[in-house]
Amino acid sequence: MRGGIIVTQDAERRRLSGDVLVEGGRIAAVGTTDGSADDVLDCTGCAVLPGFINLHNHVANTLLRGVADDMPLEEMLPKAASIDAKLTRRDVQIGALLGCVEMIRSGTTSFQDLFYWEDEVARAVRESGMRGFLSWVTLDESKTTQQGSPLKNADAFVAKQKGDPLVTPSVGVQGVYAASEETFRKAKEIADRHDVRMHMHLSETRGEVEGHRAATGLRPIDWLEKIGLLGPRVTAAHCVWTTMNELRSLARHDVSVAHCPVSNMKLASGGVAPVPEMLQEGVVVGLGTDSPISNNAMDVFGDMKTAALLHKAARWDARAMPAQTVLDLATIGGARSLHLEAEIGSVEVGKRADLAVVSLRGAHTTPFYPESVISHLVYSCRGGDVQATVVDGQVLMADRIVRTVDEADVVSRAQETARELFEA
Ligand SMILES: [Zn+2]
Repeated sequence: MRGGIIVTQDAERRRLSGDVLVEGGRIAAVGTTDGSADDVLDCTGCAVLPGFINLHNHVANTLLRGVADDMPLEEMLPKAASIDAKLTRRDVQIGALLGCVEMIRSGTTSFQDLFYWEDEVARAVRESGMRGFLSWVTLDESKTTQQGSPLKNADAFVAKQKGDPLVTPSVGVQGVYAASEETFRKAKEIADRHDVRMHMHLSETRGEVEGHRAATGLRPIDWLEKIGLLGPRVTAAHCVWTTMNELRSLARHDVSVAHCPVSNMKLASGGVAPVPEMLQEGVVVGLGTDSPISNNAMDVFGDMKTAALLHKAARWDARAMPAQTVLDLATIGGARSLHLEAEIGSVEVGKRADLAVVSLRGAHTTPFYPESVISHLVYSCRGGDVQATVVDGQVLMADRIVRTVDEADVVSRAQETARELFEA
């Protein structure tokens, strides 16, 4: 990758001019390189940054994009579930592939997904070349549309997919409103036995928190602490309705949080996730789009800008959530959440070559100076500015053309699949 402004996201948050040399899937040199490469990407006028890590997604729900807008979560979930019940394995695969194409186009290189039939999502991940952290969702059998036992399905999925370079399996839990103490404990037992991560929704809405307190006497985070579920394996999505005590408990147990500002705002979850306090208390936070039903895009640029604006607006404080902090969430924060900060999340020698090349030559990013690159990435850029995306050294997109899959074919298959789904 020749001649860009390298936004390293290393410990000093250095920005360098020059090249990034990739060898054998890893970054071999940053800045001045004298090595030659077989495949040279011209990055003149571009920022080269670590690819985004979308920490919370339900990628196959691309097929349901636009079907449940302008309604709260409590109405959206049953509406989505009625269509969801009709999905076939093939539908999940094409939906996931469509989502992967959208993410590649907007500079995301890794995503953490929560869904059933994650083996179909895994297929899409491998076909597209992305890095997938795939959590098979578990919940009480009485509340699922899954075939078979969600716990057994998750166990089998993890056992089968472990050890893959691009697909990392884990155990998901839908949330306290859909999983009993026994389900949570069994999910944890599976994760412990396989030594994999856990991924769940947590304290997303006031209704969830109040309902759980009415049923158990405890708020969800306090309850999970009591039943021994909190720990470094866990990524919790949302955590909007949390007290300072609960935040300290997340920090104490090394639970990381996926902040999903667009989804929270669109579903009017109310309140604002206390992200500045989380960071202050030492909670590791990453950024997630959440489902294409509740976002509706999977363009992390949109979520970065929204994260910056939401916290400023809510606190009457223009200094809240500065651009650098927001970019940290979308890159190294996500990596730390997954305990993979030694492998991904920054552009440093020895790390996996997961990179995004973002043009700064558009009308909407002019003028730009090396000093303004972080601001431009958060406030001015959009997914369409991404010129190239690289995962594990493989070029997934160059000159805005996706190389790993036939994009036009994926789009038309997804359109056809959705048409059949809604006509049926
Ligand atoms: Zn979600």
